[in-house]
Amino acid sequence: MHPMVKPALRRAWRSLRCVQFGITPAHAVVLSPVDAGTGDLLSLLDGTRGTELLRAEARTLGLPDGHLEALLDRLAAAGLLADASAGRPGKSGVVDAALDPLRADLASLSVVHREPDRAVRKLAARRALRVQVRGAGRVGAMVAALLSAAGVGTVEVLDSGRVEPWETAPGGLPAETVGERRAAAARRLVRRWARGGTRAGPTGAAAGQGDGRGSPGLSLVVVTPRDGLGAYVPDPVPAGPWITTGTPHLYAGVLEATGTVGPLVLPGGTACAHCLQEELTDRDPVRPRLLAQWRSGAPHPLPACDLSLATAVAGLAAAHALAFLDGDLPASTGARWEVSLPLLEWRAERLRPHPDCPCGAARGAEGERASAAGRTQDTMAG
Ligand SMILES: [Zn+2]
Repeated sequence: MHPMVKPALRRAWRSLRCVQFGITPAHAVVLSPVDAGTGDLLSLLDGTRGTELLRAEARTLGLPDGHLEALLDRLAAAGLLADASAGRPGKSGVVDAALDPLRADLASLSVVHREPDRAVRKLAARRALRVQVRGAGRVGAMVAALLSAAGVGTVEVLDSGRVEPWETAPGGLPAETVGERRAAAARRLVRRWARGGTRAGPTGAAAGQGDGRGSPGLSLVVVTPRDGLGAYVPDPVPAGPWITTGTPHLYAGVLEATGTVGPLVLPGGTACAHCLQEELTDRDPVRPRLLAQWRSGAPHPLPACDLSLATAVAGLAAAHALAFLDGDLPASTGARWEVSLPLLEWRAERLRPHPDCPCGAARGAEGERASAAGRTQDTMAG
C-alpha cells in the first residue's frame, strides 16, 4: 500500500492544530487536533512512499512507534485515506491505462466513497454492467453516450426510425447522422465514447421488440422516449416486464418546456408507472380521459425540446443512473425532479406507491410511512 490523503480534497489549516480537507459541506472533513509531528507526517502521505518507508520517516521525525498506524487509522475513519498503488496503470490493480480518461471521475468517486480503494473498485465494476437506454432522441442519445463514457461496460440503445435534424445535439447524435437509422447512429455514438472496452450491445429496432423486454442481466433501464410524454406520464404497459423481472428503471425526458428526471423505480420497493397512474386518477377523475387523448394516434411529429434543457436533463439522468449503478440510492428513487423554462427552478415530488397497484410497493411503504410520520411531509405527484 502507498497511503495518501485523498488528493481530490483541497487542504487548508483552520488553525495551527486543525486542518480541513475539502471545501463543500457535502464532503469536507475537519481533522483536529493535529500536533506538529503529525502535520509533518501528513505532508509525506502523498502516495509516493510505501508503508515501510513512511515508518522510517516517522522515526526520523522523532515520532513514537505506532504513530503512523494510528494516523492512518484516523484518516481511514475520517474517509480521507486512499491507496495510490491501487489505481496505477500496469499494476495488479483493476484500473488500467485504458481508463486514463476517467482519472477525474475516479477522483470524484474517491470523494464520494470513504474506503481507501472503493473508488477504484466502483469504477472497475461499471465495466461488468449492462444498461439499456430506450429512446435515442436528444436526451436518450446523450444519456447513452454519457454512460458509455463513464465506463459502463454495455450500453444498449433501442429506438426505431431515422434521425431527424432537430434531434442532433452537442454530446448527442452528431449532424452527420441525419437520415441514418437511429439505432445504428446511437450505437456508433456509444462506441465512440467507450472506455476500456465498452460494448454497444445489440440494438433492437422498435421499442417492444423481443430483446427489449426486461431481458435478464440488465442492471438498469433508462426510459428516455423522444416524445417526453412517455417520461412525464410513464406508461405502465411497457413497464410491466420490468416490474415482473425486478429490473430497476429510470425515467427522464423533456415535455413541452419542462424537463424531468425520475422516478427511479425499484420494483416492489418504490412507486411504479402504474402506481403513479392510479394516484393521479384518484386525485383527478378525468385523468384517464386526458391520457387517452394524449396517447392517441401517432407520436408527436415534432416534440418541443429545448437543447440546453435536454442537455441538463440528460446529464442529471446519467448522474442519477451512475449513482444507482455504483450502489447508492439517488434522490430520484421514488421521486421525480422537475424543472421548467424559463425560471429553471428544480423541484422534487415524492411519488407514493398506490395500495391498489399489483407491484406491491405500497405494502413495503406502509411501515416506512408510519415511522416517518410527523418527521417528513410527503408531497405527491401533480
Ligand atoms: Zn406500482
